[in-house]
Amino acid sequence: MNAGSLRPDRPAPPHDPVELGEPALRAIWSARRRIASYVRETPLEHSPPLSDAAGVPVWLKLESLQATGSFKVRGAASAITQLPSDVRARGVITFSTGNHGLAVASMAHRIGVGATVCVAERTDAAKTEAIRRLGATLVVGGEGQDEAELRCYELARDTGAAVIKPFDDPFVIAGQGTIALEILEQHPQIDTVVVPLSGGGLVGGIALALKLIDPGIRIVGVSMEGGAAMYHSVAAGAPVTVPEAPTLADSLQGGIGRDNRFTFAIVRRYVDDLILVSERAIGDAMALLFAAHRLVAEGAAAVGIAALLEGKIKPGKRDVAVVVSGRNVDPARYLRIVDSRLAHVLDRLSRRP
Ligand SMILES: *Cc1c(COP(=O)(O)O)cnc(C)c1O
Repeated sequence: MNAGSLRPDRPAPPHDPVELGEPALRAIWSARRRIASYVRETPLEHSPPLSDAAGVPVWLKLESLQATGSFKVRGAASAITQLPSDVRARGVITFSTGNHGLAVASMAHRIGVGATVCVAERTDAAKTEAIRRLGATLVVGGEGQDEAELRCYELARDTGAAVIKPFDDPFVIAGQGTIALEILEQHPQIDTVVVPLSGGGLVGGIALALKLIDPGIRIVGVSMEGGAAMYHSVAAGAPVTVPEAPTLADSLQGGIGRDNRFTFAIVRRYVDDLILVSERAIGDAMALLFAAHRLVAEGAAAVGIAALLEGKIKPGKRDVAVVVSGRNVDPARYLRIVDSRLAHVLDRLSRRP
C-alpha cells in the first residue's frame, strides 16, 4: 500500500451528462459573474399562509422583482454577454411568448446593440408594448410559438443577427441556474424547490445546479393542465407537440422544440416530479399572492403556489422554496382575475390554522 495515498471506496459523484459547454456548475458560476451587473439578487420571502398549508416553512423566490419583470433577464444576459463583440455588433434576434423577448430587448438596449423579437399573434399586449418601448423591432405573426421560431431563423439568415434562444441553450440554462445559487446562499436548509415549467430552461438550470450540489434536494416542475409540452414529452419519452390552449399561464405556452438538445434531457434526468395545475388554482394563487403578500404575479409565475394550494406537492422534512417567475400581465386582465378569486382566497386565509 502506498503511504500517503488514500482512495476511499465511495460511489462515483453524480456525473454531468448534459454539459453546458463545460461542466455545468462551472458554467453556472461563470454565468453568475458575467450577469452580475445586469440582474438583481432577488429576495427570498417567507410565506406564512403557504407554510401553514404545506406544514413546513415555504419561501418565495421573487424573480418577479427583476427589472424586466421576469427571471428571463438572467438567461438573456448570460447568452448575450458571452457573444464575441463582432457577433454582438450584428445585433441579436429571438422568438418568444413575451418575457424572453423583453429580456433580450432590454439587454440589447443596455449594451447598445440592435434587437429583433418575433412573437405570435396571441401574445399579451402588455409584453409587446414593453418590447417596443425598449426600441426593439417587433415582428408579429403566426398562430403560435413554432411559427415565431421559424420566422426568427429566416430573418437571422438574412441579417446575420445572433439568435438568442429562449430556453434550449447552454448559456441561457446556466443563466437561469444562478437562481439556485442565490436560493442556497439565502436559505441553505431547503430540500424541495418548486419551479414553473415550459421549455425547461428555468427548471433545467436550477435542477442542474442543485442536484450537482446535493442530489437529495427534490425538484418539482409545474405546468398548466392545457398545453403542457414538456409534461407530455416526458410522458411519451420523446419531444411531442401539444395544441395550445387559452390559459392564465400564457408565459408557459409553446413547445419544447422538435430538435431539443438540452432541456428535455436535463428535465428527464434531474427533475423529480412534474405536476399539472388547474386554471382555477392558478387564479387562486395570483389572488393569494396579492392578498397575503401584496405581490403582483402573472399566471405562469403562480403555478408553484397553485400546486401547493391544490395539495399536489408533498413536502419533505425541511423547507420549500417556490420560484415566482414573473409579473408581466395586462393590468386590466390581472384585476379581473384577482377580483374574481379574492373573496374565496380571503375566506380560505381566514380559516387557516
Ligand atoms: C418563460 C417563463 C417560464 C418558463 O420558463 P422555461 O425556461 O421556458 O421553462 C415561467 N414563468 C415565466 C414568467 C416565464 O416568462
